[in-house]
Amino acid sequence: MDPFAVSHFSNVALLQDAKALVALGRKTSAMLLSRLIEIEDRKLHLRSGHPSMHAFCVRELHLSDGAAYKYINAARAARRFPAILVEVYEGRLHLRAVLMLAPHLPHGNAGELMAAAAHKTAEEIQLLLAQRFPRPDVPERLQSIPLPPPQPPIPAQWPAGPGRELAPGQAFVTTPEQLPRKPTSEERVDQPVSRSRLAPLAPDRFELRLTVDGETQDLLQRARAFLSHQLPTREIAAVLKNVLRFFVSHFEQRRYAATGRPRAPQRASTSSRHVPASVKRAVRERDGDQCAFASEEGRRCSSRTRLEFDHIEPLSRGAVSTVENLRLVCRAHNQWAAECAFGPSSWSGSSWRKSATGAATRRRAPTLFGPPTAAGCRASCAAGSGACCAASRVRR
Ligand SMILES: [Zn+2]
Repeated sequence: MDPFAVSHFSNVALLQDAKALVALGRKTSAMLLSRLIEIEDRKLHLRSGHPSMHAFCVRELHLSDGAAYKYINAARAARRFPAILVEVYEGRLHLRAVLMLAPHLPHGNAGELMAAAAHKTAEEIQLLLAQRFPRPDVPERLQSIPLPPPQPPIPAQWPAGPGRELAPGQAFVTTPEQLPRKPTSEERVDQPVSRSRLAPLAPDRFELRLTVDGETQDLLQRARAFLSHQLPTREIAAVLKNVLRFFVSHFEQRRYAATGRPRAPQRASTSSRHVPASVKRAVRERDGDQCAFASEEGRRCSSRTRLEFDHIEPLSRGAVSTVENLRLVCRAHNQWAAECAFGPSSWSGSSWRKSATGAATRRRAPTLFGPPTAAGCRASCAAGSGACCAASRVRR
């Protein structure tokens, strides 16, 4: 049996299988930790001819550098606090959590701390640790960093074979085909946001570290000068807070018509895509600046970025822009629903374009999560049943 053949799985079976594999991986991780403890205690890594546990893990077990570091340090923590093995085995703590908790376990109730961190993300554990083990504020610092020396351009693909070295004055031309291919939307993977640069220190205190270019530095200095009357100390943190307040207020006004003095609600427009300001405000308040998509199990999408107003019932069917007929959804769910309805080729970033079959031509996304077309389901669902589309509803 091909262990990688999964196209015949139902959606439910596929999700259950993935969860079972993750659970198996956690059990394997915990068992590996116990083996690493014993290997180090018996000094088998030295007996095997490796100078360190890290070298043993990389060269003998063929772990990556990063994985070796995680496993060795988690194993050493588990040697001191064996309950870690059970927490990892039963899936309550991941290895990153173990590494984050390890320095703090000797300074408090280890069992209670591990229980508080159960099933939490790394970011949530950072906050938890900042509340329980507060650190002092870091000193404010604005310094210039020398630029790295310029690197010579590297051709995308160096021609192979003898006699291809460049003569003096000869140029190497990279054709468009040789340039690194831009990933498609399906291939693109969301890059994790670097959390380490915005780290909690204590309750309501965060450390922010960043590198900016010359223009940003100049803008910052000008903002400090403009605010020097209100903020005589000109602290960067206070300047940044004022600038961000102004920025957020400006965009809330533009996008959601936010105002401290709202006018009486206007009548819903039936002739255009115009969304009255009072409706924007009400939809935003109801959906709470968060994507309104919810799974069948009721799990709501956590996205608070790239939100768009969506008409539940499209205007083309005579619907109007009312609070009841609008919702906020993220771009990913907008696109996914579009692909369910019209096929993968129907979405081109912010608007609709004609699909390969020429079936759908719209300038804007249609109703989300509504009944998909049969053609859309065939194009999008492996089984052609349209189950992926029917499985999603927005819950309010
Ligand atoms: Zn979403």
